[in-house]
Amino acid sequence: MGDRNFFAAEGRRLAVFYAAGNIAGMDTVSAEKRSWTMSQVKGRDTKPEKVVRSLLHRMGYRFRLHRRDLPGVPDVVLPKFHVAIFVHGCFWHRHQGCGRASMPSSNVAYWRKKFERNVNRDAQCRELLEKAGWHVLVIWECELKDMAALQCRLTDFFEKLRIGGK
Ligand SMILES: [Zn+2]
Repeated sequence: MGDRNFFAAEGRRLAVFYAAGNIAGMDTVSAEKRSWTMSQVKGRDTKPEKVVRSLLHRMGYRFRLHRRDLPGVPDVVLPKFHVAIFVHGCFWHRHQGCGRASMPSSNVAYWRKKFERNVNRDAQCRELLEKAGWHVLVIWECELKDMAALQCRLTDFFEKLRIGGK
């Protein structure tokens, strides 16, 4: 199956990455995320983020990118409304009930542990942000298939914050 080759390749990439000593002093999860991102040759401007940004822009919202001082480094931040948005890949962040969050057929224990770390970290970051007064919104990659629905969801979200305007 293509999946298996893909994961074998990803495993090798990670091994090379670790062996290269590139992660000294770095958080393991972010190293993995970085490795994954690098493997996608997308850098920080992954496509789903761009799509969400241009939608927000069309809706008239002003935002900032990747506030490194915030837990989890949210993909988009709207400082005026204290909103932090994460655009999550369904697979890596385990979108519940989503077909894209499949479990690889080999090395199950390895992947389960890795996924668990990601999910726990996401929950931790959300908690820290909310404690600091941020409103956190997670947009799943699969939601980008239906932009009209996503726009409705964003509108609802902002309206619930009573900030319907810009
Ligand atoms: Zn999904």
